[in-house]
Amino acid sequence: MNRIILSSEMEKLSSKTFKNEFVNAFDGDREDNMRPRQTPGFLYARAVPTPVKKPVLLAWSEELAAQLGIQDPDSEDVNIIGGNTISASMFPYAACYAGHQFGNWAGQLGDGRAITLGEWEVTAELSYEFQLKGAGPTPYSRRGDGRAVLRSSIREYLMSEAMFYLGVPTTRALSLVGTGDQVMRDMFYDGRAAYEPGAIVMRVAPSFLRFGNFEMLAARQELENLQKLTDWTINKFFPEIKGENRIIPWFKTIVAQTAALMTSWIRVGFVHGVMNTDNMSILGLTIDYGPFSFLDAYDPDFTPNTTDLPGRRYAFGRQHTIAYWNLGCLASALAPLLDNTDELVAALEDYRDIYYAKYYAMMADKIGLDQLREEDKPLIDLFEQTLTTVQPDMTIFYQLLIDLPLDLDNEVALNTYFKPALYAALNTEQSTALYQLMITYLQRIKNNTSSAENRLERMRANNPRFILRNYLLHQAIEGMEKGDDTLFEALKTAMRTPYSREHDQFFTLRPEWASEQPGSSTLSCSS
Ligand code: AMP
Ligand code: MG
Repeated sequence: MNRIILSSEMEKLSSKTFKNEFVNAFDGDREDNMRPRQTPGFLYARAVPTPVKKPVLLAWSEELAAQLGIQDPDSEDVNIIGGNTISASMFPYAACYAGHQFGNWAGQLGDGRAITLGEWEVTAELSYEFQLKGAGPTPYSRRGDGRAVLRSSIREYLMSEAMFYLGVPTTRALSLVGTGDQVMRDMFYDGRAAYEPGAIVMRVAPSFLRFGNFEMLAARQELENLQKLTDWTINKFFPEIKGENRIIPWFKTIVAQTAALMTSWIRVGFVHGVMNTDNMSILGLTIDYGPFSFLDAYDPDFTPNTTDLPGRRYAFGRQHTIAYWNLGCLASALAPLLDNTDELVAALEDYRDIYYAKYYAMMADKIGLDQLREEDKPLIDLFEQTLTTVQPDMTIFYQLLIDLPLDLDNEVALNTYFKPALYAALNTEQSTALYQLMITYLQRIKNNTSSAENRLERMRANNPRFILRNYLLHQAIEGMEKGDDTLFEALKTAMRTPYSREHDQFFTLRPEWASEQPGSSTLSCSS
């Protein structure tokens, strides 16, 4: 996506000829009604956006638009990104997929409130699926209304863009439109439903295909469709995989991409919150932003999702294991296409080694080791253990680590140095743990063979200084609901350079008031 597109080449959203390769490649349910239904035999169902009262453009991603070659939107374009009209070349549809939710088979799910309008071609090899989220019911809406509220749309819009600038693979967001309609939601799942402003995000990705698209076809024993979807996906998104038996090398690539995604999430302290198999991208992207959060205090058991609280299945420290479980579901779905599954099982079992290789390499960069040696692994494990014991603010801790004076070698001084990252004073056990970690670390750092500047550069490039904390999002949402976009705009600016020191007005601990407040620490799936 690095091609520079001249402004004279920019195209207008509503005049562009969209491609519909997915729709043309597969059978779909083309009945023009939104009656909730099962769609066996089909990979999608036609779903036209339901018009809204008064679409108002609230945000537009200039940089993404420039990369895709899209002109600034006029009122005609806003009608499209607000779900009020479609252009002649678009074939709007909802994809049919299934999934495992919280470990249980859920059967057909499908895009209940996402509608793909078409594929925007950048070059012959590169196109992007344009998908509205919140544009009204589809045949997969079940009992839902197909809508999204402003609160959750702001979260997805800002966070997916923030993840992009952090260097984490992700779907992106082109626009945020207020619909002028009110949407009823029971935000706390406690019977106090209330109206909230509605909104629509235009999401963009090469593909929104999920593990669940493949699981659906396998569960229905539609092996011809399954083979066809697999071939199509490999041809289009993994063209480097060639030859007779492509499924194994393809699955290996997905294993590696998914392991890389987990490593990225851990690097920046991201918790997805709903790692169901229908929320796992076949391209290894972060997808479907719901009750996510960054870690404030370092706690591997932290889950932001109130629905996940009893089991903490999707807690921060479990995400890499859940990814493996989810890959197992994908492998099961692909198994019927193979005569012998030994290689598939072996590829799945390689996940652990692949993940840990990536994880240790990432941690070595994060803590500034010149190279990863086998004997460094216990040190990295000690970081993980000590952070869990001390529970400092993850982001601030690593920022302080960058600037750590190398002669700081006594317990009291170290304790004082890391104080800005602490939510509570350290007890003796915590203080000793931190001291022992730092003594071991400082010794190791002094053995670096590369320059100090090289170490600092690597640490600065791998440790974000600005993260979109949930309480900031919460405050930005409160502002936007009152028509004040000051904080929203400030966050939108800051998130574009998250590794710089330019946004230190946000470089503080999560305030005390936010620690228990719903929306600032925990979230429901109601969105
Ligand atoms: P999620 O937990 O957001 O990944 O959603 C799980 C499933 O519920 C997907 O099939 C969604 O399309 C569907 N869904 C979520 N919210 C709504 C809604 N408001 N209306 C219709 N379908 C929804
Ligand atoms: Mg989902």
